Amino acid sequence: MTDVAINPDALKVARESRGNTQEDVAIAAGVTQGLISKVEKGAGPLGPAEVARIADLLDYPAPMFYEPGRLREVGSPCLYHRKRKTLPAKVLNKLDARMYMRNLNVRKLFDGLDIEGARMFHTLDLDEYGGSPVEVARALRAAWRLPDGPIQDLTRLIESAGGIVVKEDFGSRKLFGMSCWTTHGHPLFYLNSKIPTDELRWTMAHELGHLTMHGTPAAGDPEEQADAFAGEFLASQSLFRHDVRKLTFDKLPVLKSYWRLSMKGIITRADAIEAIDRKSAVRLYKQHSAHGYNAAEPYPLSPEPPTLVKAAVDLHLREYDYSPQQLAAAVYLNVDEFYRDFLGEPPPSHANVISLFDRPAPSTA
Ligand SMILES: [Zn+2]
Repeated sequence: MTDVAINPDALKVARESRGNTQEDVAIAAGVTQGLISKVEKGAGPLGPAEVARIADLLDYPAPMFYEPGRLREVGSPCLYHRKRKTLPAKVLNKLDARMYMRNLNVRKLFDGLDIEGARMFHTLDLDEYGGSPVEVARALRAAWRLPDGPIQDLTRLIESAGGIVVKEDFGSRKLFGMSCWTTHGHPLFYLNSKIPTDELRWTMAHELGHLTMHGTPAAGDPEEQADAFAGEFLASQSLFRHDVRKLTFDKLPVLKSYWRLSMKGIITRADAIEAIDRKSAVRLYKQHSAHGYNAAEPYPLSPEPPTLVKAAVDLHLREYDYSPQQLAAAVYLNVDEFYRDFLGEPPPSHANVISLFDRPAPSTA
C-alpha cells in the first residue's frame, strides 16, 4: 500500500472542495506544508496513515485519493458558471472544486449503467448557424421534437437527453449554477437549490446553450450567446412576441406562470426581441424594482425535482443489493453527505443503525 501513489488531483480537489488550506491538511497529516504542496504537484509520497488522517479531516473515504485520472480540467472550456459579478474568487474556487467532486461522484454512481433517453445532447457549431444562438436554439428544439410554447419541466427534458441534474445548497446565493461535461459524455448541471425555480430554469437553459454551442471556441461573447440561446429555447419569439404586445405590469404574474420565466425575465425577453419599446421596458423595470421584486419575486413556480440520480440510487439499493453505506462509499462520499446533497433527504434510518456497529458498542437502553 505504501507504494501506491495518491492522485495529486484528488487531494487538491478534495481539499479545495472543503475550503481547507494546504496547512490545514499538513497539520492533520502530521507532515510539512511543503510536502503537501509537493504531493499536490505529483512530486511527493504520502503513506496510507497520512492519507487516512487527511481523509478524516476532509471527510471523504480514503480510496477516493487513489482514484486515477484527471479530476480537474485546467483552463478548459468545459466548466461554465452563471453567477453575479460580486462572487468572491475564493467562494468560486471552492464551488468549482465541489463540482469536480460531484462530477466524480456522478461518474461512479452511473458507472456501468446505461441512461436510456428519448433524446441526446448535441454540440452544434455556431458558424454553421450564421453565428446566431437563436438559430442554434431552434435547431435543438427541433432535434428534441419540442412542441411550440413553454417548456413545462426543463429538468425532466434535460434528463430525457441524459443530462444529470444535481441541486444542492451552495451556501451563497451569488452563484446560480454551473455545468460541465462528465468523462462519460453526460453533461452535469450542478445547481444551487436555494435559487427560485424561475432563475434555475434560466440557468439551465443558459448552461444548455454553453454545452451546445461552446464545445469549440467561437467568436463573440459566450455569455451573451448563452443568454440569447436561453431566451429562444425557453420562449420562442414566434409565440412569445404575441403574448407581450402591450405588456403592462399587471400582466406579469400570469405570463410568469405560463412561460415559467421570472417577471423580470419576461420584461428582459420582451425588451431583447423588441416586442416592446425601450421606454416601456425601462418603466416596467422601474415598477419591478419599486415593488422590491429584485430581492424576491412573488408567485413562485412549482419546483422541478430531478429524478435520474434518485433512480440510479434506487437501482443500486433495490436491484444490486447495496446498503446506503456501500453505495455512498462506492461514489466516494460519506453517507450523510451523499443523501443530503444527492437526494435532498436524510439517510434512511437503518443506515444510522448500521453505522453504530463501526464504533464501540454503546449500552442500549
Ligand atoms: Zn455562462
